[in-house]
Amino acid sequence: MAAETAVGATTVEIAFIDLERQKERLGERLSARLQAVLDHGRYIMGPEVGELEERLAQRCGARHAITCSSGTDALRMVLMAWGVGPGDAVFVPAYTFTSTAEVVALSGAVPIFCDVEADDFTMVPDALERAIVRTIDAGQLRPAAVIPVDLFGIPADYGRINAIAERHGVPVLADAAQSFGAVRDGRAVGTFGDATATSFFPAKPLGCYGDGGAIFTDDEGLALDLRSIRVHGQGAHKYDAVRIGLTARLDTIQAAVLLAKLEVFDDELEERDRIAATYTEALAPFVVTPTIPPATRSAWAQYTVRAGQRDQLSEGLGRSGVPTAIYYPTPLDRQTAYRGFAEEHGSPCETAAGLATTSLSLPMHPYLRPEEQQHVIDAVVRTVTAGADADDGPVD
Ligand SMILES: *Cc1c(COP(=O)(O)O)cnc(C)c1O
Repeated sequence: MAAETAVGATTVEIAFIDLERQKERLGERLSARLQAVLDHGRYIMGPEVGELEERLAQRCGARHAITCSSGTDALRMVLMAWGVGPGDAVFVPAYTFTSTAEVVALSGAVPIFCDVEADDFTMVPDALERAIVRTIDAGQLRPAAVIPVDLFGIPADYGRINAIAERHGVPVLADAAQSFGAVRDGRAVGTFGDATATSFFPAKPLGCYGDGGAIFTDDEGLALDLRSIRVHGQGAHKYDAVRIGLTARLDTIQAAVLLAKLEVFDDELEERDRIAATYTEALAPFVVTPTIPPATRSAWAQYTVRAGQRDQLSEGLGRSGVPTAIYYPTPLDRQTAYRGFAEEHGSPCETAAGLATTSLSLPMHPYLRPEEQQHVIDAVVRTVTAGADADDGPVD
């Protein structure tokens, strides 16, 4: 475990994401939930799974919540249900985790990369419009879906993205792996796309103790198909195979963990907000701090700043005992796995390329103590001002 943190101490250990403190807080709530599963022994599709699905749907206001084995499978299952496959084009941002495009390629379709906003890291609606028109004009592929990503916890601009998608008759699958709990324009994440996929990977804002995910939708038919795909394409009974499916259930044990964590989730979101506000106030003069769109509440999966001398900043923080992460060092359209798609069907995503060299994520979790956060802030200020004599400082 991390050594005691003391203000002014030379050795400080700050966790990038601290699950240990959360576990301490959950205490009895968590052990009681886990014990209940051990007692009833229904490890596959036990009662906690249904209870969790009800709570999740209610929480975000979606009609259906279908839990599953991971955020990646959540995305994949929706594409399967929609019948996306060879000859199809699916529009994704260039700046995201590999899963977003991976599920497209796995389905046999072509991922088409769109550039992102520098300010909030999400898909540029105009870039989507251009990409769809370009694809239609090329006449090779059929626009089949759009997957906007709520990067770092900030919901994408669904108001504009949905309008563009609708005009072209293309469904929207929201990749909300990092944003469950966020709100934009008075609506909760889970209600923005025709379907929304989220992840319960341990490091996400709402994480379990292993892999897990969920899909939200108001579409009754889609919900039924997803429940079938989740268990081998099952029909009326267990040995009735009506389609090709997956083994993609959420473990009962993970549902139990999530039910315990949901009880503190609202409080955690508030803490994340408070910590983010403190960072922004203190750091805005020194680095480019994240811009949250109007009427938006981020889930703060990451607190990501931009700096011209990003690598020096990261090294300086490392020397001060501050862990950082680079999300993401290479945009997807320049990755080995996807370059071919981009070369054949893409157009340059310059903002994404720039973000890959300037973005740096700072420690962010609801249990970051004030003195720890101050240590991070001091280290950023010290490193940036030391480097500023030799160079320019923050970039835009
Ligand atoms: C984490 C993540 C995923 C995948 O979720 P898993 O549960 O790890 O499969 C998909 N998209 C984005 C943007 C993510 O951050």
